Amino acid sequence: WPQGQGVLGFSVPRPSRILVLLNPHSGKGQALSLFTSHIQGMLTEAGIAHQLVITERQNHARELVREADLSQWDALVIMSGDGLLFEVVNGLMERGDWEAAIRTPLGILPGGSGNALAASINHYCGFPPAMGEELVVSCGFQLCRGLVSRLDLAAVHLGSGQRLFSFLSLAWGFVADVDIESEKYRRVGAARFTLGTLVRLACPPDPLLVPLAQPVPGCWTAVPEEDFVLLLAMYQSHLAEDLLAAPADGLLHLFYVRAGVSRAALLRLFLAMERGAHLAAGCPQLVHVRARAFRLEPLSPKGMITVDGEAVEYGPVQVQVHSGLGRLVTG
Ligand code: ADP
Ligand code: MG
Repeated sequence: WPQGQGVLGFSVPRPSRILVLLNPHSGKGQALSLFTSHIQGMLTEAGIAHQLVITERQNHARELVREADLSQWDALVIMSGDGLLFEVVNGLMERGDWEAAIRTPLGILPGGSGNALAASINHYCGFPPAMGEELVVSCGFQLCRGLVSRLDLAAVHLGSGQRLFSFLSLAWGFVADVDIESEKYRRVGAARFTLGTLVRLACPPDPLLVPLAQPVPGCWTAVPEEDFVLLLAMYQSHLAEDLLAAPADGLLHLFYVRAGVSRAALLRLFLAMERGAHLAAGCPQLVHVRARAFRLEPLSPKGMITVDGEAVEYGPVQVQVHSGLGRLVTG
């Protein structure tokens, strides 16, 4: 081949106008100071214009994105925990133009106490596990790079007929109890149970699901009635064995732990989960399957179910994953 000398330049599209939604009470109440000390300067240097909105109450962000003129923004960025992103995802899905709206790139900067998605992004980027300010800086850097990936979202149906959208997890039993009993949840109290109201929604059909009042389709795998300690469904691969798998493969990871596990083994399992090593923890009561949809019918009259760390009404629940419905700035 003839060779030619040359210089190549290209411009990578990245967000240049972003809306930052910040919950000042998330985590230890330091989201605003973390933003001003670590993120603001980074955005300026990267030439990213931003408007900062400090949320005043629960559902403020949800209402805001439901009405916002999204054409103004290249990305909606949440500086809080997972709970504020849950509001934003559901606010977008409540819009008449949800199909386009949910494709607005979403970014997350970890300001909360539960920052599972931010930790996942840090992980997808191949960085070692980080926490606190280090994770804030890492996610700020990814945000400035601005590469966008597809994000799986799961439709969650509750017994009352409510339907909501989840980007991270559904938990029942021990995991959910830990989530909810912690101090941060007691602070917000009963307000959390109002989160799941999505009555106006006309969104994507969930073809794998039949109404909760009917038995599941015959081709589903049924786990016979038994005692469970916990169930955890994850749509992000952060906690999965194949840690670097594409996040948007349309499959969820379903973990459940059968009764008979000792307290010590359960504790070991939880510690291993934080490192994504729980499958290697050698817990014989732990089952892991990959699924597109599942239904859980709790038989115990009382308990706790959380979606993305937020409590929802307790009772039968079913889930279908929608592959790549959303967009996430992953750097
Ligand atoms: P954390 O990780 O600290 O729990 P989250 O982002 O999950 O932080 O937010 C916790 C809860 O606070 C969520 O339910 C969210 O909707 C709610 N929230 C958001 N903004 C405010 C606010 N300004 N005041 C009180 N609660 C808020
Ligand atoms: Mg939270």
